[in-house]
Amino acid sequence: MTSIPDITLNNGQVIPQFGFGVFLIEPKDTVAAVSTALQAGYRHIDTAEMYGNEAEVGEAIAKSGLDRGEVFVTSKLSNDAHEPDDARQAFDATLKALGTDYVDLFLIHWPLPARYGGDIAATWQVLEEAYREGRARSIGVSNFQPRHLRRLHGETQIIPAVNQIEVHPYLTQDEVRAFCAEHQIAVEAWSPLGKGTVLSEPVIQSIAGRAGKTPAQVVLRWHIQRGDIVFPKSVTPDRIRENIDIFDFELSATDVEDITLLNKNQRTGPDPDKFDGR
Ligand code: NAD
Repeated sequence: MTSIPDITLNNGQVIPQFGFGVFLIEPKDTVAAVSTALQAGYRHIDTAEMYGNEAEVGEAIAKSGLDRGEVFVTSKLSNDAHEPDDARQAFDATLKALGTDYVDLFLIHWPLPARYGGDIAATWQVLEEAYREGRARSIGVSNFQPRHLRRLHGETQIIPAVNQIEVHPYLTQDEVRAFCAEHQIAVEAWSPLGKGTVLSEPVIQSIAGRAGKTPAQVVLRWHIQRGDIVFPKSVTPDRIRENIDIFDFELSATDVEDITLLNKNQRTGPDPDKFDGR
């Protein structure tokens, strides 16, 4: 029996620790993939304006027969819309595309220090407006380094509820995760499987063999036991069901440590300190 833990964010809102990511799912495949996920028990969907599939995520939720309140929906601001007026319009467009009058969580997708004069505070204040209006139940950031978080802390009022960063066994992100823990910012681990690259690691394969689970299940379980929020992506129905089937076993402390030791500070995506969003 699957039972997904909840995490309480710093504003009291609750997020399922496990969900479904839809990056690189074609719009034409999104309704089917999200529907399969919802049928398998996922109740948290992670999309973004830049994924181009918000409308299809909304359509799948509407078709599922679930109440809107039963599904936690995250979206993220486009890199082209950090200017405050653009950000307001982009947020409105997200709600319209999803066919909902609120999102559970809205994030600044990238800090873009080399663009917009690095003025993340002005963009964040637009998210604060959406939060005060109740149209974003929680607000947060993605790909923020401690220096970006410190800047928000100095210039704005609301502490981000989450920081969504790349985390997997090859990139354990000890420094950013420690900073977030100290400031009550929940960590969401994107590309939790390292886009599949970590699955052939002998350490992971051997733990999987002993546990009677697949390498993907072992890695997802490692994230859950470390306390991060995860939303693996797949369009393959069997894998969608496999990935959520991780709440009936536990890794030992040694297994968790052995997987953590695979870290080589190796990213699969851009470096947030350099990326300009284009
Ligand atoms: P992921 O680590 O979830 O890997 C997905 C890939 O792993 C799939 O395409 C598939 O090839 C493989 N896979 C999935 N399940 C498998 C299984 N059971 N067995 C074997 N292989 C399997 O990578 P991702 O999609 O990049 O990340 C997940 C989510 O994180 C995204 O969909 C998105 O929501 C989010 N994300 C956010 C950012 C950001 O900048 N905030 C960036 C990338 C991803």
